[in-house]
Amino acid sequence: MARHAIYDSMHPGCADILTPPCPFCGQQGWTTLPQTAAEALLEGLPVQDAVPELGFLLREQIISGTHPCCAPGAGFGDGIDLDLLTR
Ligand SMILES: [Zn+2]
Repeated sequence: MARHAIYDSMHPGCADILTPPCPFCGQQGWTTLPQTAAEALLEGLPVQDAVPELGFLLREQIISGTHPCCAPGAGFGDGIDLDLLTR
């Protein structure tokens, strides 16, 4: 079974990847990758090889499900949509 569920994205040439439940908040997450990178992941390529340009925190989300904003040591505001903070 594939480790990652991949869906067509609203963005042409991109795919949405469902990431595993976050160990900190328990919520699954999404991230959008180029279609080619998503397919490389599906073929079993390590994340750092499939999407070398991706930031460390987003790679971590794909691998372990940890959201950038939940990661230990995340700087305040990392990966957080500022709109969510003011609600
Ligand atoms: Zn989380």
